[in-house]
Amino acid sequence: MRFVLAGNNEKKLKEMRQILSKVNIDVISMKEAGVSTDPEETGSTFEDNALIKAQGVMKLCGLPAIADDSGLVVEALGGEPGIYSARYGAPDCKSDEDRIRLLLSKMSNLEQRNAKFVSSIVCVFPNGDKLTAYGECKGKISYSPSGSGGFGYDPVFYLPEYGKTMAQLDPQLKNRISHRAKAIEALKDKLIYYLQDRAKLD
Ligand code: IMP
Repeated sequence: MRFVLAGNNEKKLKEMRQILSKVNIDVISMKEAGVSTDPEETGSTFEDNALIKAQGVMKLCGLPAIADDSGLVVEALGGEPGIYSARYGAPDCKSDEDRIRLLLSKMSNLEQRNAKFVSSIVCVFPNGDKLTAYGECKGKISYSPSGSGGFGYDPVFYLPEYGKTMAQLDPQLKNRISHRAKAIEALKDKLIYYLQDRAKLD
């Protein structure tokens, strides 16, 4: 079966393809599906935003669609930056470095550094069926950035069990333990059951 991935993130496309190809699921890009409009994220939760993106793309091309919405949730900041992770501090903050600087300045007097990356994935079908999956990865916000791998908040996301930030981890290891990898694996299991049940009805 073929699914379109909502959004234009090549890394996410690669990750989805790697995991879902194991169960004969083909993931194509919006470009390959002939869709160029990226639906605006107007929801108030990660799941709402993933649903808005998946439904928007599914309606435009008539194919089942998958969308992911992810971000950083910092406990001592009441869940900030949360769904605003990509646009934290906008319009003043324009780059990942600016957003990291803002985050560290807001946390400069805080000893409680617990945080998590979360990922919500929604998969919608033209018949109205919907599957959802969630993954999270727990860590701590470091006092200064380290490492040059990854993207976004990776240089300040410290993983105590590895003694490294996400930006210092081997990329293959990140792709195994990340919030997104966990959500995609969970989606894969739900898709297997869903497609088996549908095959019984066909
Ligand atoms: P989106 O789901 O692509 O909109 O991503 C939201 C934002 O959350 C990104 O722009 C990053 O700032 C942050 N984010 C999501 N996943 C990661 C990750 O794996 N590492 C670092 N930052 C992330």
